[in-house]
Amino acid sequence: MELYNLKKNEQRVSFSQAVKLGLGDNQGLFFPTQVPALTDIDALLKQDFVSRSVTILDAWLGDELGSDNVETMVRKAFNFPLAVTAVNSQTYALELTHGPTLAFKDFGARFMAQCLNLLCKDERATILTATSGDTGAAVAHAFYGLDNIKVAVLYPKGKISLLQEKLFCTLGGNIHTFSVEGSFDDCQQLVKDSFDDLEFKQEIRLNSANSINISRLLAQICYYFEAVAQVPADKRDNLVISVPSGNFGDLTAGLLAKAMGLPVKRFMAATNENDTVPRYLATGEWQPQPTISTRANAMDVSAPNNWPRIEELMKVQGWDKSLVSGIKVTESEMCQGLKDLHAQGYLCEPHGAIAAFALKNTLMADETGIFLCTAHPAKFQESVEDILNIKLELPQPLADVADKAILSKEISADFSELKQSILAI
Ligand SMILES: *Cc1c(COP(=O)(O)O)cnc(C)c1O
Repeated sequence: MELYNLKKNEQRVSFSQAVKLGLGDNQGLFFPTQVPALTDIDALLKQDFVSRSVTILDAWLGDELGSDNVETMVRKAFNFPLAVTAVNSQTYALELTHGPTLAFKDFGARFMAQCLNLLCKDERATILTATSGDTGAAVAHAFYGLDNIKVAVLYPKGKISLLQEKLFCTLGGNIHTFSVEGSFDDCQQLVKDSFDDLEFKQEIRLNSANSINISRLLAQICYYFEAVAQVPADKRDNLVISVPSGNFGDLTAGLLAKAMGLPVKRFMAATNENDTVPRYLATGEWQPQPTISTRANAMDVSAPNNWPRIEELMKVQGWDKSLVSGIKVTESEMCQGLKDLHAQGYLCEPHGAIAAFALKNTLMADETGIFLCTAHPAKFQESVEDILNIKLELPQPLADVADKAILSKEISADFSELKQSILAI
């Protein structure tokens, strides 16, 4: 697989290089020079999720990594269930929330971990990541037990929920968690400082498990195929998929699935009040505004960094702009969406409810809609209980860790202290 840098087209890299580098020169995103087309989509849709995912990822990576390796990686990464549930006769929920950390980020993070494990082979590597909750948990679980890779996760002390903390700070082994006296921005700064210290970077073979990594996007293509496969065949003619979007990695993966041949009529880019993309689609002007805090906080992104990939894909595929419509969903509309779903017997959470609301308002009579559920309701327990006036039960992965001890080390937001601590692990 070959990729080029969107900011410096002459920089060409292999998949292996792109995974290890993350970003290209001038902070440019890597983009595939060719999208492999799949033949006989109907037969593919009849396969089970894992077998089909092997076929999909082999089309991208088989030549470079070897088909046997691709198969092993997919089987190890995708070892948890996903589901499609009918909400009503015209609308389906794609639940990506049954992984070890109860969020769709498990798919991308687990596949990326398998890629790095294969590509680093006997070299040691250190993954350093800052988190405000979800990403750190997905990354920690994804790399847990991969012995040549050490993981250090930084999070702001006291600023994530106790259950969130228990989900990834109780693992031990190769997972090292640091509770930082400071804010999420301080944690991000410590990660930047680490990458700027070239000697340190080299010594510990530093890598990030950043969400712009191409391996994560390729993994996410697979569940779009599963969504379509589980919708009854007589409802697949005019499919509309609604994606709750923040950094727009998820939507990029959906569009890549279409480029590979998945029959989707159109996509909806549903955002919260951080609506840079819906405004851009309406006016043609890219004007990020200061980030607004909402209850769908994983989507509180005002400068989505995957958007250039979507623009490029639309261009090279020659797709009409109408393929993607942007919709902003306000906080009160999200609450309404969550209540509507609950009234139909479906329990959701703020991110999924945004996608569902966007869909409901624009779905035409001859269309079938699918919205993505990106997090388990229990991960947003407070909001869900408050909006719906109900009590939630803890799902298994959270119940399992509720009594475990937190193993984090407390540090100040000071680079030399972090450096000492990482060198000691
Ligand atoms: C990360 C995240 C999103 C946004 O996904 P993008 O790929 O960044 O657009 C939506 N919902 C949840 C729960 C997330 O964790």
